[in-house]
This record gives sequence, C-alpha cells and structure tokens, in this order.
Amino acid sequence: MHLILANPRGFCAGVRMAIDVVDQVIGLFPDETIYVYHEIVHNRHVVGRFVRRGVIFVESLAEVPSGGIVVFSAHGISPAVRQEARERGLTAIDATCPLVTKVHAEAVRYARQGYQILLVGHKNHQEIVGTLGEAPDVTQVVERPQDIPSLTILDPEKLVYLTQTTLSTDDAAVIINALKAAFPKIKEPPSSDICYATTNRQTAVRQIGPECDLVIVIGSKNSSNSVRLTEIAENIGVPARLMDDASELDWGWFPTGNERVLLTAGASAPEDLVAETCRMLLGRFGGTIEQRDIFDEDVEFAPPGALRRIMEEKGIDPQSRRFRAVTPTITGDLYGAVPLTVSAGKGA
Ligand code: SF4
Repeated sequence: MHLILANPRGFCAGVRMAIDVVDQVIGLFPDETIYVYHEIVHNRHVVGRFVRRGVIFVESLAEVPSGGIVVFSAHGISPAVRQEARERGLTAIDATCPLVTKVHAEAVRYARQGYQILLVGHKNHQEIVGTLGEAPDVTQVVERPQDIPSLTILDPEKLVYLTQTTLSTDDAAVIINALKAAFPKIKEPPSSDICYATTNRQTAVRQIGPECDLVIVIGSKNSSNSVRLTEIAENIGVPARLMDDASELDWGWFPTGNERVLLTAGASAPEDLVAETCRMLLGRFGGTIEQRDIFDEDVEFAPPGALRRIMEEKGIDPQSRRFRAVTPTITGDLYGAVPLTVSAGKGA
C-alpha cells in the first residue's frame, strides 16, 4: 500500500487558537468549571478530550451559572448571545476564528450601507447562525441555487453576497454563478470568505486525488470542512470515506492491499488520529508513506482580547503565546513508516 499524506491537512490556525484558548483557560482557572458554548471545534475527539478534563459544553447560555466562565466556540456567535453573556455577568472569552469575525464585520458594514445580504451557506451551521445574527433583518441564507427564486429582493442593485468560510469551493462557485446570473449587479465580498485553510485542503485533494484509488478524510460528520473534502474527492471521481478515527477503517475498502490512498484531515481533526490510521493500514498491509506538499501554511492568530487581559492580570505575557499550524514531522514510531519522499506540487 502506498499512503500519500496531503500537506496541508488537519488543524488550521483558527482551530489551533480555539483549542489553545480552552487549554489556557483551564490552566488559568484551575478551581473553576469552564463552560464552552457549542463544540469548541467540530471534532468528537477534541471535545471528548476536554470533557474528560472537566469542561462542560452547553448549547444555551442558560446552562452556565451566573458569574461563570464561558468560552465561545471557533464558529462565532450572534451579538444577541454576546449581550446575553453580559447580562448574565459571565466571564466570556471569545475563541471565534478571526476569519469568521471578518465575515461578521462585512455583514455589519454592508447592512449599514443599506445592502441586502445573501449569505451562502448551510442554514443550521453555527457559523451561519452567528453571521445571520449580525444583520437578521436584511440577510437571507442561500443553501442551493434552487433557493434563489424564493428570495425577497428589494433592490437588485443594492445586493451583496457573503459566504460561510468552510464551503466547498466547487459548490460555492455554482451558487455564486447562479446568483450573478439572477442579479448581475450583485456585489462580491472584498476577498473570498472561504478561508485559506478550507481552500488549501480542498486544492490538495483536487491535485493529489486523481492518482489515488481512495481518499480517506479524518474528521467528524458534523465538521463542514471535513465533509466538503469527501465531496471534492467524489467530484473528481475518486471514492472517499470520512471517519473519526482508525477504528472505523473497513478492510473491505482495500480489495488488493496494494492501493494508493490519499490521507487528509479536516481543519478540526488532530494529527494523532492521522498517525494512528497510518499505523493501522501499514501494520495490516505493509507499504510506504509519502508526504505531498501542496502549500506551506504559516498563518497564526494571537489570543483573543479577553484572554490577553486575563493573562496580563495574572502576570503572564500574552505575546509569549502565539498559535501556529506546524507541518507535522513523520516518524516511524508514530506513523508506522517514515516518508519515502517529501514531494512538491506547490501553490496550485
Ligand atoms: S477552517 Fe478557516 S475559518 Fe474555520 S477556524 Fe479554520 S481558519 Fe478559521
């Protein structure tokens, strides 16, 4: 079997920052219960590991006792939730990814300028719920081109579209083209709202997938960007499987054991789950690993303001903590084999 590890894969800067925020809040308040509003990131293992450390995940702020400590997840929240936290006297630390915050800011700005906003994304996803909450009176969600005829448009010349950060670039292009066909004067966001991490992981699958028999995506079923990676693979005609971890491997997927398999991971999936999958596959079938570098990522985000203030109050220099996505080192012990090659296909 030949395993190709897509690079980049797994944790993005926003997820790394959000996880580190919870990690640090646990350390800063060792005697307090830490609450997190929604899953901090959409990954069963990440959430489970925090639950085992005593963190309580809630779907409503009413579940957090007055005066308690709450972290808002990476997907963002509506202003109404922020207001509720203030009214309840909660210590709130916002781990929203700055790239989600950017879309919120665009929604606020366009609404102030009198635009109607068409928000392309999945209606029930927490990110869309949060962005919609910035300008609910002038925003409509578009999930599919079929939604377009039922939109209520007051002035087709005062219209802008924004998107969820984790959409499939393929699907988004179809919806955006349909919007442009229906409303030729529709304004675009100043830069793509689909984030760098989503775009890079999808591009890697699009580039490497065609030379593989199967694409395995490590990620949870409720992780939008992980699901999108399987769709990108299927769009180029390569079968794809989404799994939380190696326990979901099915040997029937590998009829010869000599397959070429592309392994990638959604932006919220920890790398140790990728390594475990490699160990399992190579332990059963033998073979080699190659890491394929498509993009270097060096994006990093500073801790959120509320956490920086708490750290300063406790005499900790917030600048000493920067969150960075680092390309994992492949070791034989962890992955079952060292890479044959680290080969390029950079910057498609
Ligand atoms: S996937 Fe993109 S928007 Fe979402 S947390 Fe990561 S960097 Fe931020």
